Amino acid sequence: MIEAADDLYHKIKAYNTAVDGDKLCRAFDFGRQAHDGQMRASGEPYFLHPIAVANILADMRLDLDTVITALLHDTVEDCDVTLETLQSQFGASVAQLVDGVTKLSRIGMQPSPNSMQAENFRKLLLAMSEDVRVLLVKLADRTHNMRTISFIPKDEKRQRIARETLEIYAPLAERIGVTHLQHDLENDAFAVLHSEMNQTISNRLEFLVQQSEIVIPMISVELQDVVEQAGIECSVNGRLKTAYSIWRKMQRKKVTMDQLSDIMAFRVLVPTKDDCYRALGSIHAHYPTVMGRFKDYISTPKRNGYQSLHTGVIGPENHKIEIQLRTPEMHEIAENGVAAHWDYKNPESSKRITKVKWIQELVGILDEEAGADEFLENTKMDLYHDQVFCFTPRGDLIALPKGATAVDFAYAVHSKVGEKCCGVRINGKNRQLATELENGDQIEIITATNARPRPEWESFVKTGRARSGIRRSVRAERMVEFSLIGKTILQKVFREYGKPFRSRSVEKIISVFNFHKLDDLYAHIGEGRIEPELVLEKLHPDLASSRKLAKTGNVRNGRGGDAGVPMLRIKGGYSGIAINIARCCHPLPGEPIVGIFTTGKGVTVHRKDCGNLSNFSDAPELWMDVAWEHEGPRRVLARLNTVLSNEPGSLAAVATIIGQQGGNISNIHLTDRNADFFSFELDLEVKDVEHMHTIMAVLQANNFVERVDRAQSS
Ligand code: MN
Repeated sequence: MIEAADDLYHKIKAYNTAVDGDKLCRAFDFGRQAHDGQMRASGEPYFLHPIAVANILADMRLDLDTVITALLHDTVEDCDVTLETLQSQFGASVAQLVDGVTKLSRIGMQPSPNSMQAENFRKLLLAMSEDVRVLLVKLADRTHNMRTISFIPKDEKRQRIARETLEIYAPLAERIGVTHLQHDLENDAFAVLHSEMNQTISNRLEFLVQQSEIVIPMISVELQDVVEQAGIECSVNGRLKTAYSIWRKMQRKKVTMDQLSDIMAFRVLVPTKDDCYRALGSIHAHYPTVMGRFKDYISTPKRNGYQSLHTGVIGPENHKIEIQLRTPEMHEIAENGVAAHWDYKNPESSKRITKVKWIQELVGILDEEAGADEFLENTKMDLYHDQVFCFTPRGDLIALPKGATAVDFAYAVHSKVGEKCCGVRINGKNRQLATELENGDQIEIITATNARPRPEWESFVKTGRARSGIRRSVRAERMVEFSLIGKTILQKVFREYGKPFRSRSVEKIISVFNFHKLDDLYAHIGEGRIEPELVLEKLHPDLASSRKLAKTGNVRNGRGGDAGVPMLRIKGGYSGIAINIARCCHPLPGEPIVGIFTTGKGVTVHRKDCGNLSNFSDAPELWMDVAWEHEGPRRVLARLNTVLSNEPGSLAAVATIIGQQGGNISNIHLTDRNADFFSFELDLEVKDVEHMHTIMAVLQANNFVERVDRAQSS
C-alpha cells in the first residue's frame, strides 16, 4: 500500500513538480482507513480499486484534487464519511467533486435504462456533472470496474453493467474525446456482451499474428524509413485493431471476418503540422492508396478536438494497412480529449473549463459524426442545465424542464396518471405534489380512481402538457355541472310550452347543433351559449312562429290561443306594456319574479334571485310587480275593418292603443290605399265582446282613425 502511494506520488510529480505530497498522503491514508476491512468481488482489499482509478487519472495528468477525488470517490457512499469531513480535511473542491461522483453513482444504481433511453441517460450524467472532472472520475471508475468485471459472479449483473457501459459511458467518453478510455470501455463491454464473437475475432487475430508475427514490426520499420528518407524525424507505432472495432466494421460493412483484410493500424508521429502533410506525401508516393480512406482531420478537426491525417494504403508485402499521422500535441488531445486541455500549473485557466463554461466547451468539442442533427444536439446541450431528469419506479428516465413538479412528472408519464394522481413519493418519502423535482429523483406517483386534478395546480406546474391536461379536466368537470343545469333549463322550457320532455327525442337532434353527446348540448344550454327555445323549435317546428314574435319584444304576454300556456301579468292595472323574459336568469312559471321597466323596451322579467337585479337597486321606480298568470278564459278572434288617415305614425298609434287596452293584433291585411286614407282588416285577440267594444271605442276617439267597423265575416 505504501508503495502504491509512493508510485502515485511520483507519477504526479513527473508532470506537476509542485504537487502537494502531504495532501496526497493524507488522502491516501484517509481512504485506506475508510475502506478498511472491505473487500472487492475479487477478494482483494477494496482500496485497491480507488488506487487504480487514481492512477488512470494521473496517467491522464489531471490535477491533484481530481486524483484525490478518485482515492475518496466511494467513501461517502460506502463508508459513512460525510462531505463536511472531506471539506474540512481536503477542501471544498474535493468535497464537491466527491459529492458529484457520489450522485452519479446513485444514478448508476437505478434499474438499467433501455436503449431508447440511453441518450437521455447520457444527458442526465452530463447535466449532473457540474464539473467535467466529476465525469472524468466516473469514467475512470467505470473503466476499472470493467477491467475487473469477470469477478462479478452473477452473469445477469455482468451483462447489465456491460450494456450500460457500451450504451452510456463509452459514448460519453467519446463525446468528451477521452478516446483511450472509450476504447477500453468498449472492448471490455464487448467481451461480456458478445463473448463468443469476441472469442472468434480474438482467435482469428491471434492466428494472423502468429502467421505473421514479424509483420507489424517489419512494416513499422519500413514506414519509418520511407518518412525519414523525406528528411522528417518520426516515430511509428503499429498495432492490431481491437476485436470491438473489427466487429463494428463487420457490422457496418456487412462483411465477414475473412473479408476483412485491414486489421493493422499504424500511427506516425512527426514534429509539426507541415511534417504531417509531407510525410503523407512520401507515403502516398511509395504505396498505392486505398480509395476513399483519406481524411484530413487537421484542416477540419473533429468537434471533440481530434486532429490527424488518415489514409489507407496497400503497404509492404501487399498488406492493407491504416495509417494515422499527427503531432505529439494532436496525439495528446486524441487520447485524452477534454483532459488534455488541463493546465494543472494554472488553476485559473483550468477553472475556466471546470465551472460554468464546461458545457459550452463540450459543445465545441462534440463529435462531428453527429452530422445533420448536430446543431439541434448542440442546442440541447446548452439546455441541459435547464432540465431535470427523474426516474419512474421501473427506471424509465423522464426529462422535464427545471422547476417541474410531481404533477408535471405524472402528466409526462401519461395523461391518465396525471388525471388520477393524488400524491407522490420522492425517493421513498411522501411529498407534496407541488414539490420541485431534482436531478436523479425517483418518483412514484400515487393515483386513486376518484382523484381529480385541482384547478390550483395550474399555478405551479411547469409543462404545457400538465397545464392543458389540468384545464381539460377542470373544464370537463365544469361541463358536468353545466350539463345538469342545461337539462333542467330545457325541461322547464318544454314544460312552459306544454310539450313533453324526453331526452331520447332531444338526443336525436344533437347533430343539428354539431354535438356528438347529449350532455354537450345540455352543457352549452347551461352555459347560456345555446337558447333552450332553439332546441324546442327543432323538435316542434310549429312553435317557431310564436318564437319569432317573442324575439321582436312583444313576448309572451297576450300570446293567446295556446291553451294552457302560462302568461305574465303586471300588477296594478298596467296593461299594454311589452314584457320581456330576462335572458340572464330565464325565469320560469312558478318562480318568484320581478319586473324592471326599461324605456323603449317595456318590462323585463327577472327571477327574484337574479344577480343582475343589483344593477337597479338604486332605482326603485323601475321595479314593477309582476305575476304569473295562468290561462283565463280562452281568447277570441275579432276582425275589424278600419280606415285610417294616411299619415306617418298612424298605424303605430293604432297598435299602441290596442296594446294599451290589452288586445293583441294577430294579423293585418291592407285592402285599400289612396293619398288620404288607407283601409285594412285587423284581426284582434280579445277576451270577449265587451273587450272588443272598448277597443273599438278608444280607436274611434283617436284623431288618426277615420272609421272602425266590425267586419261581417267574424
Ligand atoms: Mn468506484
